[in-house]
Amino acid sequence: MRIECIAIGTELLTTRRLDTNSVWLGERLADLGLAFHRKTAVGDHREDLAELIREALQRSDLILTTGGLGPTFDDLTKELFAEILGAELVEDAAARVDMLAFYAARQRVPAQSNFKQVLIPMGAEPLRNPVGTAPGIWWPDPPGHPGARIVMLPGVPREMKRMWEEQVEPRLRPLAGRPTHTLRLVVAGVPESTLDERIREVRQAHSHLDWSILASLTQVELLVRSGETTALEAVRRDLKPVLGADLVSVGAGNLEDAVLQGLDAQGQTLAVAESMTGGLISARLTAIPGASRSFLGGVTVYSPEAKAALLGLPPDFLAKQGTVSEATTIALAEAAKAKLGATWGLAVTGNAGPGAEGGAPLGAVFLAVAGPGGTLSAGRAFHGDRPDVQLRGSGAALDFLRRQLNLVLNY
Ligand code: AMP
Ligand code: MG
Repeated sequence: MRIECIAIGTELLTTRRLDTNSVWLGERLADLGLAFHRKTAVGDHREDLAELIREALQRSDLILTTGGLGPTFDDLTKELFAEILGAELVEDAAARVDMLAFYAARQRVPAQSNFKQVLIPMGAEPLRNPVGTAPGIWWPDPPGHPGARIVMLPGVPREMKRMWEEQVEPRLRPLAGRPTHTLRLVVAGVPESTLDERIREVRQAHSHLDWSILASLTQVELLVRSGETTALEAVRRDLKPVLGADLVSVGAGNLEDAVLQGLDAQGQTLAVAESMTGGLISARLTAIPGASRSFLGGVTVYSPEAKAALLGLPPDFLAKQGTVSEATTIALAEAAKAKLGATWGLAVTGNAGPGAEGGAPLGAVFLAVAGPGGTLSAGRAFHGDRPDVQLRGSGAALDFLRRQLNLVLNY
């Protein structure tokens, strides 16, 4: 079944409002083992919307629209579907009763335009709106398109969700596919294109499955979908040796979850010292419930004064080594570890721009991990604007620590 989503509203084409309805609907469809083959956002323009409706009727079996069901001049959805399909709009008695009751309950009088909302295309059914005034539309077998279905829902997310759950999902359930299962693997420290090459053989060996690669600034997600859990188990088995130590986790977690799990598993603790990342590492770790079991705390030592006062780095050492350097980062990691009596100290310094700062080039990042067996450090060079470099820096630091936790875990 080819399912198409049309999000209607001029505001969705600007930065003023994001189309969250289609994202939510996509998730609900996945629960039914169904998926969109296409989704589009379109403004409240008669010609644009009409063109899209005509195309959708040609290519899709189920068309889901949200928005444009209100009483005003720019609410065109129902009228255009009716016009294109040559169906007359007729007043629905129950919808009229609902609408009048809605206004009576609020001691208000409906405007003339509200009566437009209770018009329903001949052959379609109204979907009651228990939280607003615009009814939705369920239109099976529209004229000239036997077997197709059209569902129109209001744009207001609260109304749309409630009507989907109570009235649309039950109607679609008989059409539901087999539930799909997803294998999710998180990989770090490998660019998307390199990862793509590395997994090519495994992907070809399991090419009947649905694969996707999703890169973000600090990790890459590999998603594989199938109706069979055994097929996914085989993929996981084949990928594990290919990914090696770059594999962060299997399942729901991210980098920070893996770090906390690694610490937890060994009953170990962590202290953090950050400058360029401004507390991002601590924020990412503390976003996870239960982080306090292993994350003792961290300091944002942004200035040389803070590095000296809070972690005891001598001013002349800082003057000699520079605030952004491998030596300073090592000293910060060791000081954080010692101050809090943690198993591990993690530190990051760097230059997130816009100019060259602390004697280091733009995008330069230094990482250090002080652990039970000594201190390891590394340098990285990132591209991007300030928030990008900060986020990448926080990810690189977490991943640097994670790799060493794994090392300990493996021994
Ligand atoms: P409408 O039904 O077109 O009058 O939209 C009513 C309200 O819902 C407006 O505030 C819209 O901005 C909002 N809205 C419409 N479509 C969406 C969408 N796809 N995602 C999130 N909000 C939406
Ligand atoms: Mg609108």
